[in-house]
Amino acid sequence: MPVANTLAEIRRYLENEIAEGRATAEVSPETAAAFKRAASSGPARRSPETPAAAPAAERARAEEPAAAPAAGDELAAVARAVAGCARCGLHKSRANTVPGEGPPRPAIMFVGEGPGEEEDRQGRPFVGAAGQLLTRMIEAMGFAREEVFIGNVVKCRPPGNRTPLPEEMEACLPYLRRQIAALQPRVIVALGGTASKALLGLETGITRLRGVWHSFEGIDLMPTYHPAYLLRNASGKRPAWEDLQEVLRRLGRPVPGPKKRNRQG
Ligand code: SF4
Repeated sequence: MPVANTLAEIRRYLENEIAEGRATAEVSPETAAAFKRAASSGPARRSPETPAAAPAAERARAEEPAAAPAAGDELAAVARAVAGCARCGLHKSRANTVPGEGPPRPAIMFVGEGPGEEEDRQGRPFVGAAGQLLTRMIEAMGFAREEVFIGNVVKCRPPGNRTPLPEEMEACLPYLRRQIAALQPRVIVALGGTASKALLGLETGITRLRGVWHSFEGIDLMPTYHPAYLLRNASGKRPAWEDLQEVLRRLGRPVPGPKKRNRQG
């Protein structure tokens, strides 16, 4: 294979690894030995701004393994990676990427399906009509919107607000995984069937998934109806509120409303 092609393949492989948040890459012993040989033979060219010999202390610092990035740094890194991402076809029609927003280490992380028209325009999650309902739901739980993290499975708007394709969700999920790993929320609330299925890897419909505790990489996950569905189906509001009450119980927070239930998930 021509060297230029090999280089392109290696670049693509490493970009995928970085998108998935991996700090190291696995290579065969032969490849590792070839890298070592190339490194020990020294650089073919040195750029003019590279100092010929860094002081020993500086070299030692540069060789230290990087500390695990703080949650805020990792969230910013994910947002930067998303902003330049072209891993699936959704990048072609987006106006803005919508990585999500909220503080590190929130009690709750809400995960929806993907940005809609208004979200695409503003680059912020859940700012349209469904977002206003979500904000009211969050406030009814006793939180301010700014206290929780709100994100989506895909970070670019599917054209016409269609459901993201499986391959689009698969391409984008590494970013959500990195966000969840950095945020370490106490509870994830998956909004709607698409987000629930993407996170749980199940084909079960939302009507059967909702109201029952699940787990995503050790974090409690409660599926419930998507606010957009609730805008069209008022009958879903009561069960959705019951799901959020379960979340409050799991968090040990006061449960507002006259209809307190005793069931624990
Ligand atoms: S939806 Fe996700 S994977 Fe696809 S281009 Fe946007 S950020 Fe990249």
